[in-house]
Amino acid sequence: MTEKLSIKQFDENYQDILTRVQNAALQSGRTPEDITLLAATKTVDINTINHAIESGISFIGENRVQEFLSKEADLLPVHRHFIGHLQTNKVKDIIQKVELIHSVDSFHLAKEISRQAEKAGVDMDILLEVNIGNEESKSGFAPDALEERLCEIVQLPHIHVKGLMAIPPICNQPEDNRKYFKEMYHLFLDIRNKKIDNSAMSVLSMGMSDDFEVAIQEGATLVRVGTALFGKRVYH
Ligand SMILES: *Cc1c(COP(=O)(O)O)cnc(C)c1O
Repeated sequence: MTEKLSIKQFDENYQDILTRVQNAALQSGRTPEDITLLAATKTVDINTINHAIESGISFIGENRVQEFLSKEADLLPVHRHFIGHLQTNKVKDIIQKVELIHSVDSFHLAKEISRQAEKAGVDMDILLEVNIGNEESKSGFAPDALEERLCEIVQLPHIHVKGLMAIPPICNQPEDNRKYFKEMYHLFLDIRNKKIDNSAMSVLSMGMSDDFEVAIQEGATLVRVGTALFGKRVYH
């Protein structure tokens, strides 16, 4: 897709998404300000991303280290999150360049983030990814094991667990995912109520283009939307 086309597509989509986020927030007894709309910008060119930022997008998420690094220097001011699977040997490349890593899926990875944060003299905010559908093909902590792993991870210096993230199984209907979002919200509340040190449980990152309204209705505080903002991804 050319840049002009993708910018036009964005303009058409953005207001619609904002309205839908607002309505879903109200349906869940919250205000639109309680929900963060993060633009998932993989494969989107830098000019379109910067146009989105100028239009009001204040959070972006990339999910490949290489791609993120190739865009990062040219991005307008924006909150930068990492949302994809992260290999431990790439942690050092992004540690000072993102505010939040959504996709921490092992103690091993958390430990490396802690180590690199210490080296860089920073503290890193992370979310723990939960494999809410217990899918073999997906990474993330099993719901059953989450609390135990969390209690180990919060001991690590220089990282702060801010909440949970999930990518539920691929479904045909947004409604099919409601049960997974409900389960995530219960895990989130459960852990929050236990007041585990160094785990704030303020961010619940779930919901994408096809199901962000259902996710918000069930308690998401942050939705990651790509296709519905930028159109279908084109891989080069
Ligand atoms: C690509 C991506 C999204 C956005 O997906 P869409 O269906 O295009 O909205 C959300 N989260 C993660 C982790 C992604 O990689």
